[in-house]
Amino acid sequence: MEYYPPSLVRLIRHLSKLPGIGEKTATRLALHILRSSDNEAKALSQSIIEVKDKVRLCSKCFGLADKDPCSLCVHPNRNTRILCVVEQPSDLVALEKSGAFKGLYHVLHGTISPINGIGPEDLKIKELMARVRNSEVEELVLATNTNVEGEATASYLRELFKDHTMLITRIASGVPMGSDLKYLDEVTIKRAMERRQNL
Ligand SMILES: [Zn+2]
Repeated sequence: MEYYPPSLVRLIRHLSKLPGIGEKTATRLALHILRSSDNEAKALSQSIIEVKDKVRLCSKCFGLADKDPCSLCVHPNRNTRILCVVEQPSDLVALEKSGAFKGLYHVLHGTISPINGIGPEDLKIKELMARVRNSEVEELVLATNTNVEGEATASYLRELFKDHTMLITRIASGVPMGSDLKYLDEVTIKRAMERRQNL
């Protein structure tokens, strides 16, 4: 890398800080940027500046938005009585892409993780409580991930709202579509068996 001009080395260093990008890939990307047209390279740098400048958290759902409230929170066709709690904005996007959910979201921005020093106060849980208090939510869908921390966070929320009259549900977990039983871990198989359904 030191054989490249200093400005190129700087770009490689910045790119290699991105998740999943090692020095080799960063070098390939930097050389690609160098070969691209001035307009393309400027558009790339401009779009980085623009996301940093414009994208904020929606003050209602805490999803990513460049308007506040975001377009989902004010959409007239959404069911405002069902609130789905997710860990990250990317989980919200995944659920939206599936088209399976027509209610509103609440993004926690993480999970409770004592090992990493993350407690409920570090997540958007206070905001969730206020939201539930100030609206007519009839169902709270806990869609945190089905790993240990996601389960712990879902249990915490279930306990937190146990005196509330709304229905509290948890997304189902089990055998993923297209998977082979022999490659699944025991917890997944156990849960899939426990939550089997009538056909
Ligand atoms: Zn929103």
